[in-house]
Formats: sequence, C-alpha cells, structure tokens
Amino acid sequence: MGQQFWVFNFRRLRALSRELLPKSALISYKVSNMSDDLHNEVHEKAEILAQALPYIRKFHGKTLVIKYGGNAMTDPKLQADFAADVVLLKLVGMNPVVVHGGGPQIETVLNRLGKKGEFIQGMRVTDEETMEVVEWVLAGEVQQDIVGLINQAGGKAVGLTGRDGSMIHARKLKMLDNKDPSKELDVGLVGEIVGIDPSVVKALQDDAFIPVISPIGFGENNESYNINADVVAAKLATVLQAEKLVLLTNTEGVLDKSGKLMTDLSAREIEALFEDGTISGGMLPKISGALEAAKSGVNSVHIIDGRVPHVLLLEVLTEQAFGTMIRSH
Ligand code: ADP
Ligand code: MG
Repeated sequence: MGQQFWVFNFRRLRALSRELLPKSALISYKVSNMSDDLHNEVHEKAEILAQALPYIRKFHGKTLVIKYGGNAMTDPKLQADFAADVVLLKLVGMNPVVVHGGGPQIETVLNRLGKKGEFIQGMRVTDEETMEVVEWVLAGEVQQDIVGLINQAGGKAVGLTGRDGSMIHARKLKMLDNKDPSKELDVGLVGEIVGIDPSVVKALQDDAFIPVISPIGFGENNESYNINADVVAAKLATVLQAEKLVLLTNTEGVLDKSGKLMTDLSAREIEALFEDGTISGGMLPKISGALEAAKSGVNSVHIIDGRVPHVLLLEVLTEQAFGTMIRSH
C-alpha cells in the first residue's frame, strides 16, 4: 500500500472524525440510556462496520465490474440504495464500473409502440425499430437515471455507450441452436463482441469518475448492435483485469430444478445444468459470461439478488455469501 493511500485515508479519517465527533458524544449518551435491544442493535452495527475493514484493504485500488439489472433497476428505493453502495465503494478506494441492462424499460416502450419483445435463447430479437428503441431507452432515460442517482449520492458518474472512446467493437451475433448446433438462429441486430478497448474507462477511473455503460456496440460500417449487458460486463471485467464481477439480477441466484439456490457452481456443474435445461432464458448469457470471466482470471464472480436492499455492499464488504458464486474449474 503506497504512501498516497495513507495520506488520502488520513485526510478522510480526519474529516470524518470532525464530522462524527459531536454525534459520537451523543451516541455514548444514548448507549448508556438505551434498552438492551437497542444496545444489541448498536453493537451489531459496529460489528458489521468493523468486519468491512479487511475487505476495504483487500479491494483497495481494485476494479469491480457490476452489472445492474432486473428488479433492482425499477424499484426507486432499491435504485437509491444501489447508487449509494456504488459511491461508498468508490470513496473507500475501489474502482466500480457499472454496466446496466434495461429489459423492463425497453419492454414498456415497445408495448407503447404496439410491439412485443421476443427472446431466443435469452437474446432479444432486435429488428431495426427495436434497435432504435434499445438505443433510445438505454443510452437515454435508463442511463441518465443511474448517472443522476450516483451523482446525488455524492459520486461523479459519467454515462457512456460502447461507441464512446471506440470502446465496444461488435459484429452480428452468430448464434447456434442449442438443440441442433448445425442450425444458426437469426436474432437480428444482436451483437457479439469483437473487442473492447478499455482506455476510456481507465481514463475516467484515474480521474475519480464512475463509468456507467450502456451495452451498445458499433460495427465495421458504424452500425449499432444490441449486446446482452451480462456479456458486456463479463468481457469488460476480463479486459480490465477486474478483481470482481457482480451480476445483480431478479432471482436469488442460480436455482436448481426444484427452485433451490445453488450457492456455488463449477464449470463442470454448469455444463450439466445447460444440458438438462435447468438454465434457460436470460440466465444462459449470464452464466456463460460469468464462467468466461472466471476462466479468464477475474478472481471472484457472483450472481446475486438485486431485490435485497444494499446487496452490493453486503457482497463486497462482509463475509456473508450471497447468491451463486461461479468458479473457473
Ligand atoms: P436480468 O435483468 O438480471 O439480466 P434476465 O431475465 O435476463 O434478468 O435473467 C434472469 C432470469 O433468468 C430469471 O428471472 C429467470 O426467469 C431466468 N432463469 C432461467 N433459468 C434460471 C435458473 N436456473 N435460475 C435462476 N433463474 C433462471
Ligand atoms: Mg438479462
């Protein structure tokens, strides 16, 4: 840990103690006058805060790629909690990068236009009109909402699409039929990643900004591609040599055939789940991406429940395990 770390943290601590001093006097007064229940609650809080220290040290200066999607994205309270968590992680010295989806918001606009979203093997079938909606919704309202909430929580977020800084180079996805791999399925303007140039993300991180990225790529002829956000997050985590990839979703994690949470999955177990059909729909690209990232050196890869308030903070800063951890072997 360099000198800069200590100088930076010492300044922070000094500022924090100035702010907290009058409050701590108040707390000690309250502690001596509170009921047993409250007393226990305060101690529990202190325990949890103290538990965070080793994680703050371990992840200081490390990159965390976070895919933000599912219900966590549509409930206002969960949105605000998520933004606050991202800012806290940044302020204690980590480098969070947010990649967002926007399935429910895209669906709402498509429905208004009299269209209905169609998915094949977890990928949104994207004709020209759908592509326009995807770009408009993701890079517009959805991204700016997240940027606004992070800024409100005291961070400095910058919204980008894969076009910015020539970041995400894509081409039309060649998708084989899972049931008959000799057949190719056409899902329109869905892209697969040719390469990611992370220099714009790195430049922003160095300047204390929090990048918020819409999963849109550009092709050879400057055409736009709709890329699954989990796939973008996973590849970005690999390219940035991230310490962690965290995928927030709208289930507890990966569930088995009887609906029970699987807390831990290896590559071999995942293969079996693909084969027996336990994993379907949006979970297909999510798990493939997660596994790729784990195999390419991202140290910890987790699929967690975005419906739990502050789940991101709990995942990164406590010893409690959440959702499903994906292992590389
Ligand atoms: P997100 O916005 O998080 O990407 P998706 O709908 O794309 O959401 O993917 C999550 C969905 O995958 C779940 O809501 C669930 O319907 C589906 N799914 C398919 N198989 C599984 C499984 N084995 N465990 C959990 N979810 C699964
Ligand atoms: Mg999805």
